[in-house]
Amino acid sequence: MDRLSQLLRQLPAVDELLRHPRLAAARAPLPRSLVAAVVRRTLEGVRQRLKAAAPEDLPPRLDEEALFGELGQALEAAARPSLKRVINATGVIIHTNLGRSPLSTECIRPLMEAALHYTNLEYDLARGARGSRQDHLEGLLRELTGAEAALAVNNNAAAVLLALHTLARGKEVIISRGQLVEIGGSFRMPEIMEVSGAILREVGTTNKTHLHDYEQAITSETAMLLKVHPSNFRILGFTKEVPLPELVELGRRYGLVVVEDLGSGCLLDLSRHGIEKEPTVQETLKAGADLVLFSGDKLLGGPQAGLALGSRDAVGRMRANPLTRALRPDKLTLTVMEATLRLYLDEPKAVAAIPTLGMITRPVADLERQAQTLARKLRRRLGEWIEVKVVPSQAQVGGGSLPLASLPSRALALRVPPLAAHQLEARLRQAQPPVIARVEHDTVLLDLRTLLPEDQIELAAALGRLVAQMQGAGNIRE
Ligand SMILES: *Cc1c(COP(=O)(O)O)cnc(C)c1O
Repeated sequence: MDRLSQLLRQLPAVDELLRHPRLAAARAPLPRSLVAAVVRRTLEGVRQRLKAAAPEDLPPRLDEEALFGELGQALEAAARPSLKRVINATGVIIHTNLGRSPLSTECIRPLMEAALHYTNLEYDLARGARGSRQDHLEGLLRELTGAEAALAVNNNAAAVLLALHTLARGKEVIISRGQLVEIGGSFRMPEIMEVSGAILREVGTTNKTHLHDYEQAITSETAMLLKVHPSNFRILGFTKEVPLPELVELGRRYGLVVVEDLGSGCLLDLSRHGIEKEPTVQETLKAGADLVLFSGDKLLGGPQAGLALGSRDAVGRMRANPLTRALRPDKLTLTVMEATLRLYLDEPKAVAAIPTLGMITRPVADLERQAQTLARKLRRRLGEWIEVKVVPSQAQVGGGSLPLASLPSRALALRVPPLAAHQLEARLRQAQPPVIARVEHDTVLLDLRTLLPEDQIELAAALGRLVAQMQGAGNIRE
């Protein structure tokens, strides 16, 4: 018999593995049918690898240690949820791939209450009759921004889609070429426009658009002037954009709705905290936009949602659109959004309690201090196996906000010999909880600006386990 057939025959049977004492602990939390499926899949993977290997690379005997290790890991992975907490050490605060804004702890109690009990989601307690889920946010949003009316949907892409579908379906929407943006690969303004049934009329050039470009494009078919915050890029140098008040004046003259998609949608003037100025929602409404659209989980620091604020007429028409029913947020989102917005009634409280705002405004001196403390702690515990240095770093707001504003930060430059930077980055990603790091100039950087307070303890523990695994040593203190 050849080597390959021998190795394949040495693989244990599924039944045997389902009873094997070495896998008892890993099997325990899982239903039997799932254990069987995971074991079968893992064995099949091993079989395929053996078959694909060159004959000279085949081992003389099946490596049982490795096989049981692989089975154990596969079973443990199957017991863990797929969507889980990670440690964001990238320095990108509003990181779309990592779920954007972590929520304020102030949201947790209302969230639990709403999750575990019945709520007055669509019930008017005063009248004892059906109510609207939108009522829970509208009053607060009007109070905070001065808007006449407000509507919440699932995300800002939905808000843009709904606004176009309601106010410009079958009609033309004029937008500057410099603002035909793509955001995060899946949201392209021209494509959203097409799905909505509105007709795109691009004006101007990539770097310059003048008021007369808009005015010359207006016909009897025009319904809307749309301004889009260019979010994740900026055109610098020889540029011209038409300020919102001028567009508003033009819209009034021709009876057109003027809409601004702000993207990030900040309720606070961040320049008071030394950050580059973003137009706030309040200023945009004050400038006369009929409708302002923005995300709930970017600079606002709340849950994923899209908020549409503006005139009673524009918002009222959107509310009446049957599409709104398909885009409505659920009770958990609305609960968390209300709790987040309530914090904004008191600005210092919002900055203190909303993690996204806290991370943006943290002084670099704090980060330096924390970095030094964490580095000392890691050296004390793991100094024999790792090298750690505090280095200056540039963090980013992310999420399409303030593309040019990099925030001065501090990072731990980490080396765990003999791993190369990309190997260490991958190991950290596989840790529990996963640690998402940045690699720059062949160095793994852990940026302090995006570490939440509890993350530092978890990060140290995860690193300890990683080193212990590598050393196979039991003498590393947790
Ligand atoms: C992020 C963004 C969107 C999409 O918002 P989501 O909440 O991710 O759906 C739309 N427009 C602009 C300008 C943005 O920055």
